[in-house]
Amino acid sequence: MTDKNAEQAFNSVIEKDTDELMGLTFQCVCGKTHSIPIDYLSVNKGAVNEIRNRMDESGISGAGVLIYDRKIESSVVERVSKTMKEQGITFTMYPVGDGKKDPRPEIDLSKSIAEDIGEKADFLMSVGSGVISDLTKYASAVLKIPCILVPTAPSMNGYTSSMAALTDRGIKKTLMIPPAKAIFADIDILVESPIEMVRSGLGDIVSKSVCNADWKLSQLIKDTYFCPLPSHITDKTEPLYLAAAGEIGEQTAHGMEVLTDGIMRSGLSMTVIGTSTPSSGAEHVIAHYWDLMALKDGGEKHFHGVQVGVGTLVMLKLFDFIRSFPVKKVDINKLKGNYQSKSDLTAFIEKKFGIYAYGVREEYFSKYMNWGEKEQEIGFIIENWTRLWDELDTYIRPIEPVEDALKRCGAAVYYHHLGKSREEMLDALKNAPYIRGRYTLLDLAMDLGILEEAAEKIIV
Ligand SMILES: [Zn+2]
Ligand SMILES: [Zn+2]
Repeated sequence: MTDKNAEQAFNSVIEKDTDELMGLTFQCVCGKTHSIPIDYLSVNKGAVNEIRNRMDESGISGAGVLIYDRKIESSVVERVSKTMKEQGITFTMYPVGDGKKDPRPEIDLSKSIAEDIGEKADFLMSVGSGVISDLTKYASAVLKIPCILVPTAPSMNGYTSSMAALTDRGIKKTLMIPPAKAIFADIDILVESPIEMVRSGLGDIVSKSVCNADWKLSQLIKDTYFCPLPSHITDKTEPLYLAAAGEIGEQTAHGMEVLTDGIMRSGLSMTVIGTSTPSSGAEHVIAHYWDLMALKDGGEKHFHGVQVGVGTLVMLKLFDFIRSFPVKKVDINKLKGNYQSKSDLTAFIEKKFGIYAYGVREEYFSKYMNWGEKEQEIGFIIENWTRLWDELDTYIRPIEPVEDALKRCGAAVYYHHLGKSREEMLDALKNAPYIRGRYTLLDLAMDLGILEEAAEKIIV
């Protein structure tokens, strides 16, 4: 394929409406062939009435198992299961949890669900939001059977993704699995979802610019793979959900449609690439850090996207601060003197993360360099500073529209809306980079020795 053809194919893909992207395979300008192995996506009123017909088209038949959270979804589950029975679909019910506590998004729980169901099912189906969907998707991957999702809240972007975000010994892992075969996002159901989950959905996707800027940064410094397709897939809807933030907060049908379309495209931006990178930058690392700390020390938990929204604003401010930092002032000898050895870091991680230290060490040491390598990298960064920022600028968005959208939607905007103190916010900026192997702007700031100074300035 010529470059021109690849460019034409690229442009036609990014113009497509979300449902038209299903089943897509094409050769991209980045040299890779991308595909979306999902048969069907409906973001419509009455979408659940289409389930049987679409199952037939996808060749999904036999006995299904409908997985749901015993605690929160009873009325919706009843409604969906009634519709499915009327459509002549055969399935049994599988409640998760004890009806009191929230089911945890753990790999082990998903494996035990799969083991329990065993060969009884020809397909799995989830009626639920993030945790239930991910547990179901992963269990269907273990059982090697197709899976169908009926989202009950537009709370996160994983419905269309080819991965499950589950924890392994407290550390959030992104596990590559086949995506769902079909997704039925029924607006009549979604308008009734809890408002905090709706706000979480918006918070999850306002992060796009930080995610793509961090990903681009990693390519520029670490020479890792990068493709412009994911950001273009989500660019199409970004202005729409930012503009509709007020309606999203009021949960109008239009607001829910715009938000749900946005989260579906965000999920697809990961599926086309096969990694979570286009939808998970440093703002996600901060959110995962808070989850880990809540697990370790107790303390208040918040929805994923609500934390991501707060983290996004902080990161946009950090991009702004570091862009204008006089990099020539960086003192290499001072950095060398302060550079921590692996054994110092091991001791620090043990102390800071307690029983979760093992997982943290694994992540952090996957990006650790000895001083010689790091010195070279820092030299490269300083030398190419202007070019780096010129390239990054394509992906970084202004702070105000994002801040304004979160406000209009009624979501948490600043750390104190999450009940956190300034010290806790500073702690997250300083220590979140340890829990993820991915290189982000936080690592760049840390390597240049300016993270603490930046954090003090931008966190007021
Ligand atoms: Zn590509
Ligand atoms: Zn997310």
